[in-house]
Amino acid sequence: MKYVSTRGQAPDLTFEEAMLTGLARDGGLYVPAEVPVMAANDIAALAGLPYEEVAFRVMRPFIGDSFTDDEFRAIIARAYEGFGHAARAPLVQLGPGHFLLELFHGPTLAFKDFAMQLIGQLFQAALERSGQRVTIVGATSGDTGSAAIEAFRGLDAVDVFILYPHGRVSEVQRRQMTTPAESNVHALAIDGHFDDAQARVKDMFNDFDFRDGVRLAGVNSINWARVLAQVVYYFASAVELGAPHRKVSFTVPTGNFGDIFAGYIARKMGLPIDRLVVATNQNDILHRCLSTSEYMPDGVIPSISPSMDIQVSSNFERALFDAYGRDGKAVAQLMDELKSGGFRVSQGALQALREHFDSGRCDEDETRATIKRLQATTGELLCPHSAVGVKVAEENLKPGVPMITLATAHPAKFPAAVEEAAGIHPPLPPRMADLYDRDERVTRVPNDLAAIETLIRERIAK
Ligand SMILES: *Cc1c(COP(=O)(O)O)cnc(C)c1O
Repeated sequence: MKYVSTRGQAPDLTFEEAMLTGLARDGGLYVPAEVPVMAANDIAALAGLPYEEVAFRVMRPFIGDSFTDDEFRAIIARAYEGFGHAARAPLVQLGPGHFLLELFHGPTLAFKDFAMQLIGQLFQAALERSGQRVTIVGATSGDTGSAAIEAFRGLDAVDVFILYPHGRVSEVQRRQMTTPAESNVHALAIDGHFDDAQARVKDMFNDFDFRDGVRLAGVNSINWARVLAQVVYYFASAVELGAPHRKVSFTVPTGNFGDIFAGYIARKMGLPIDRLVVATNQNDILHRCLSTSEYMPDGVIPSISPSMDIQVSSNFERALFDAYGRDGKAVAQLMDELKSGGFRVSQGALQALREHFDSGRCDEDETRATIKRLQATTGELLCPHSAVGVKVAEENLKPGVPMITLATAHPAKFPAAVEEAAGIHPPLPPRMADLYDRDERVTRVPNDLAAIETLIRERIAK
């Protein structure tokens, strides 16, 4: 299995190489040269299997020779053993034909644990074998960083540096990043927005001296291995509701387009997905782009669903690559235009995107109203991100096709917003109840590439 860059100018890599590399050297993102198709029989055979076995069968064709079957099975088992729910991703019903996929039972209470826990174990297995050491840097609007720190803490072959926008993550998210005591994890609070943090991480990858000098590796949602890990729960949940014998649709609270892109891969693999609905908050660039063809960032407005407060949606590049007939030059051109303000998707490419994706937007008042209403009508307390998904899903229900909305975080990760909306304080699960008592450790950094690189070099030299 070979992986190619969306900008067509970087070398093809194996799964392991693409995973350790993250961003391609031409600035593009790695995607499989070909998506393997799963036969309807093989999909049907997933019914009733443990989550780990579904994960093995769905991901195996993408791994190639990078890991043996036994190694890969052991990696998956370790990745999900720390989850607080035996089903890993339980499905609950919200109403007629509408289901919620709870993806928040991992160690940091957000869906990012599904990918990050797996990638931690994959990195450890690969690096142990080669005796190498790497420096992981990542940008986070909150949940990626805590999931990464939780997945890599204490691993000796890895230093992890996480940049998060100072003052713009929830207290639970911050504490999950700043309280782990292991010396290989470093939380950096940058003066700026998430997009600034993400831009500085991209700059570090494009600074080849630095990149090679510290052996930089990325675990942001652009990392192919993360997308792949997320494909699994689309299969697991769809099969539970009758796939491949009937179609299902998904609504996905979306920011960087990684989670919903995993659904798109599941669809290409042969899972009968009817619609993939992109749900955005008031930062609705993806909804606007899918509605009007114009991709025009116009500044982030902070919301109560901060993990979706994004204007530059990295993984959208992967969807554009396919929509433009896998023309790397065309994608590189769009990304150049983006640097000077924005771009317009061609009519052909927009049509191709709309074959897979619908979209909707949910503003702040609607988000709060949805949290309150769902609590009253179902007893389910939603986090603000999941509420955005539920609201948009309700607008896209179709008779005869079950809708699965992805619940991307636990309500206790965003207690202030949830309490304001529903009048109920969502308690942390008992296994993390002491989070507010632990000591914090964080370094404030300016939004300046040279300063951040110097700090990282100094820390890893120690
Ligand atoms: C990261 C995140 C999202 C957005 O997911 P993308 O893959 O970036 O689209 C939505 N909700 C929560 C809680 C998240 O942490």
